[in-house]
Amino acid sequence: MIIVMRPEHEEEDLVRIVRRLEDMGLRTHISKGEHRTIVGAIGDERIIAEIPMESFPGVEKVLPILKPYKLVSREFKPENSVVSIDGFEIGGNKIQIIAGPCAVESREVLEEIAEAMEPAGVHFLRGGAFKPRTSPYAFQGWGEKGLKFLAGVRDRTGMKIVTELMDPRDTVLVCKYADIVQIGTRNMQNFRLLTEVGNIDKPVILKRGLCATIKEFLMSAEYIMAQGNDKVILCERGIRTFETETRNTLDISAVPLLKLLTHLPVIVDPSHAVGRADLVTAVSRAAIAAGADGLLVEVHVRPEEAMSDGPQSLRPKAFLSMVEQCGRVAEAIGRVI
Ligand code: PEP
Ligand code: MN
Repeated sequence: MIIVMRPEHEEEDLVRIVRRLEDMGLRTHISKGEHRTIVGAIGDERIIAEIPMESFPGVEKVLPILKPYKLVSREFKPENSVVSIDGFEIGGNKIQIIAGPCAVESREVLEEIAEAMEPAGVHFLRGGAFKPRTSPYAFQGWGEKGLKFLAGVRDRTGMKIVTELMDPRDTVLVCKYADIVQIGTRNMQNFRLLTEVGNIDKPVILKRGLCATIKEFLMSAEYIMAQGNDKVILCERGIRTFETETRNTLDISAVPLLKLLTHLPVIVDPSHAVGRADLVTAVSRAAIAAGADGLLVEVHVRPEEAMSDGPQSLRPKAFLSMVEQCGRVAEAIGRVI
């Protein structure tokens, strides 16, 4: 249920409402927008129906939330959520580029990649230390050693670290090094893991499942927010279709659709969407034009030597050109990179 407050309501009206809802065992969420304050109540619908909220002072109207997802919905919070990582914002007017190798390989290669990306003004370095590989015989990532390499680059460059968490047992370890925790496509419906990251005090990038509908995607984000972590960033990374020329099919319409349905920031991973470096720039431009708040891109100094996802990794020169081109698209729609 959403309680829309009158513009002239008193603070004590708000306090009274929250107290009453919480006394009934409901959870509340207050959203103070520029024009309106909204109180969201979450819990047993039957209890909610019993409380005559319209009669409380300061209340303008009461609306049910019809969608199965509540906390992530635009109805619940009309204005965009902006996730701030030490002052670097995702979801604001500035479009953020998160870039780096698929996997952390060695300290030297990671440093080379980070250095090559620096002219683009990148604030976020990605790289997996725990890799979800289709084959158990493929490189699985260096674990903590890889996390340490990432932290080393952060210390030298100030770049923030984005890295994947695959297993709830590694949460403490990954959080020790990560600035943003990534939940990969294969784990989008690992509800135990979602609950786990719902309880951490770090932003989470939630990647859309390989075959997940938009509703399922948002329900997974709801799992995280329901635990109290509201720093969720959604990532469209392509979905499975009948097409085999590309690794996946980028659902570009998911970007404006998600922006309508939810207040959460939405970023796009063009690399896993297409699986081939020669398409990444065009798809990145499209993502920005469609309203994405950021890009998650794979970059490698020598893709032919990459331990995973070489064919889709941009070389530094192509990456810098991609960022420059995306900058022009951003400018055309009143944003900056
Ligand atoms: C990745 O970002 O390297 C990755 C494994 O992505 P996804 O979970 O989208 O496949
Ligand atoms: Mn990858």
